[in-house]
Amino acid sequence: MVRRSRSRTMRKTGPPACGSCGAQVVFVKMVYTDKRLPVDPIPVADGNVSARLVGNQLHGYVISDAHPHGAPNHRYAAHHGSCPDRPRPKPRPAPPPTLFDLPTTQGEP
Ligand SMILES: [Zn+2]
Repeated sequence: MVRRSRSRTMRKTGPPACGSCGAQVVFVKMVYTDKRLPVDPIPVADGNVSARLVGNQLHGYVISDAHPHGAPNHRYAAHHGSCPDRPRPKPRPAPPPTLFDLPTTQGEP
């Protein structure tokens, strides 16, 4: 189990939203891994997640050779792929430029 130290900022009310960009997402319960994967709410023709509604919950899986897409499922796009604000691996911000780079004339011999 991997524990993320980053606290979740999910709201208690309203539809689930992406924690990075704030877009509305729906969670697909992964039937093979028992995880929850955020996808865009609207099915798309080239989505990589095959899912169908069971009750009020999408159940599905990531499409692969082992688990091809098939009816009655619809295809959804994993939000990771479309999120404009997805966390990038290891962001390394450059040090901010020093605006007040005063010459150190004091103490010169
Ligand atoms: Zn997002």
